[in-house]
Amino acid sequence: MTMSIDEKLGVDKIIVDEENAHIIIDKQYSDDAEKRKLIKICPAGLYKMEEDGGGNLTFDYIGCLECGACRAISLGKVVSGWNHPAGAMGVEYRMG
Ligand code: SF4
Repeated sequence: MTMSIDEKLGVDKIIVDEENAHIIIDKQYSDDAEKRKLIKICPAGLYKMEEDGGGNLTFDYIGCLECGACRAISLGKVVSGWNHPAGAMGVEYRMG
């Protein structure tokens, strides 16, 4: 039986560190092109533009797959801090 990506991700387990966000974004960062890159690249869809037309980016680290893509393209820009979650926290892949 072949599983889709969504089905595989659906069986992963994520233990959320409610006390410490492992990714911090700069909400004052003003370059919309950089924000759009994050919206496109995040496989978990955690970066979103607010629908009020104000160009504000929203981000929630809960559900992060720890792929590092946002770090690779935006650390020092929109992404102001990126660390792995503390030990035993974060994503646990179950289907490779
Ligand atoms: S590390 Fe990957 S999954 Fe997590 S927020 Fe960044 S791009 Fe999204």
